[in-house]
Amino acid sequence: MSRKQTKKNVCPSCGEVASEPYKTWELVAPFPDKKMRITVTVQGMFKCSSCGKTFRGVVSKLKLGAEDVEIGN
Ligand SMILES: [Zn+2]
Repeated sequence: MSRKQTKKNVCPSCGEVASEPYKTWELVAPFPDKKMRITVTVQGMFKCSSCGKTFRGVVSKLKLGAEDVEIGN
């Protein structure tokens, strides 16, 4: 299998790689970055299949661009 994995969420307790989060939510950055894009971070709660510990991790990050806005002269 050569499926590209972005970021693994690993159990902080035993190091087991968590699969799917059982709960997700979005965090919207209150301020845009230098390129005036808003970063939306999708976070999730994971439950370790090995030791049962629950922990929080980042599921994915999105950058929402405000069209091509150019500021300056
Ligand atoms: Zn674990």
